[in-house]
Amino acid sequence: MGMSGLQIYKLLPKTNCKDCGFPTCLAFAMKLAAKQAELAACPHVSDESKAALAASSAPPMRAVTLGSGDKEIKVGNETEMFRHDKTFYHQPGIFLRVKDTQPAGEIAEAVAEAMSYQVERVGIMMELSGVAVENASGDKDTFVAAIEAAQGKANGKPFIIMTNDPHTAQAGLEAAGDKPLLYAANKDNWQEMAAAAKAAGASIAVYEPEGLTPLANLAEQVKGAGLEDIVLDPGARGAADSLQIFTQIRRLALTKNLRELGYPLIAFAGEGAESAEEEAIIAAQHVSKYGGLVVIDHFDPAVLYILLTLRLNIYTDPQKPIQVSPGLYEIGEPGPDSPLAVTTNFSLTYFSAAGELAASGMPSWLLISDSEGMSVLTAWAAGNFDAEIVAKAAKTFDVASKVNHRKIIIPGYVSTISGELEEEMPGWEILVGPREAVDIPKYLKQVWQN
Ligand code: SF4
Repeated sequence: MGMSGLQIYKLLPKTNCKDCGFPTCLAFAMKLAAKQAELAACPHVSDESKAALAASSAPPMRAVTLGSGDKEIKVGNETEMFRHDKTFYHQPGIFLRVKDTQPAGEIAEAVAEAMSYQVERVGIMMELSGVAVENASGDKDTFVAAIEAAQGKANGKPFIIMTNDPHTAQAGLEAAGDKPLLYAANKDNWQEMAAAAKAAGASIAVYEPEGLTPLANLAEQVKGAGLEDIVLDPGARGAADSLQIFTQIRRLALTKNLRELGYPLIAFAGEGAESAEEEAIIAAQHVSKYGGLVVIDHFDPAVLYILLTLRLNIYTDPQKPIQVSPGLYEIGEPGPDSPLAVTTNFSLTYFSAAGELAASGMPSWLLISDSEGMSVLTAWAAGNFDAEIVAKAAKTFDVASKVNHRKIIIPGYVSTISGELEEEMPGWEILVGPREAVDIPKYLKQVWQN
């Protein structure tokens, strides 16, 4: 378990010199205990104390990085069992698996289609994380050819190299680009596989289906061979088994601080499923609990959109709503006679309103006030979207200089502020718009008059 603030304080210099940016050593210790500060901020800690504190402050689950550049993904390093307790930090990588028994042209086509798939939601571009290539043929050259075929179409995304043969692994890793994951070391091959991964700068998955103690022991052996970046596969497949085992491992790592199991988990959703639909359900389960890497065997944009949206939702900090910057946004190319609407800076609200304004075909101005990232009703209830705030935003972003008319459309949910807003914005006509963004085009068509 981690140390308490007082335990940490006893190991600090206790000079209150403030070099760490905190007024006292005790304040710094409390922040360290809450994992809100880095030990490196204090330049005066003795080596002895540093060693003791580093062991205690190490995260209960290691972060593992795959790939490089803008396609790099980092998984693990989670601290919570339940997302609502604080937040989940590193969203799982979702990988599409191809097998080297497929013709190279088919592999290239499948990878090109899947890896170029992108979809935007609340201003965030969502896509698959990378490619897993399995050595189903058992032949080294066929495997390398399959990896090369996939490489050409992967848009620089990371690879999972799947083979149990160390020589094939070595050849595969050479063809697989930056920082791939080697899957998998088992009790028979771990020494050679660890050596191959280490030489290639790859991380390694450890596969041991015989129980958690053998899995932990094998992970320790691989770690002892000099590999820290480990991913665990306990061999559980299917919804019920994997949920049980994944939860058990997460709990042992996070609440019992069992370092031997403190690694991200890899899941193969398709292996426990009897259909593509079941695979999608199991993959969704792993996105929620507690996959670090989720490998799927079918690419279907309709399913992927759901998985990626789920991943975005689960891995959004509930205390920090996704928001856009307050300002006056141009939807299309609005002019001085174009409609002017106002709403809050919650991303989903902004993108819903902006999307429907665009769909109306009427270029418009969209004023976004600072509502601390809350949606309309929540912001209104919290006092973050009242007449004073809307009027202040209108003044700050000088809407009067952009439009000839003096009309502003407020969301239907806050019709109650229209009277006060008239007082705050003298000379302006306050129009109450629809409650739902989807009704904006119809509203503009029927109601907007310049
Ligand atoms: Fe204490 Fe170190 Fe901070 Fe100075 S820098 S106040 S010694 S914790």
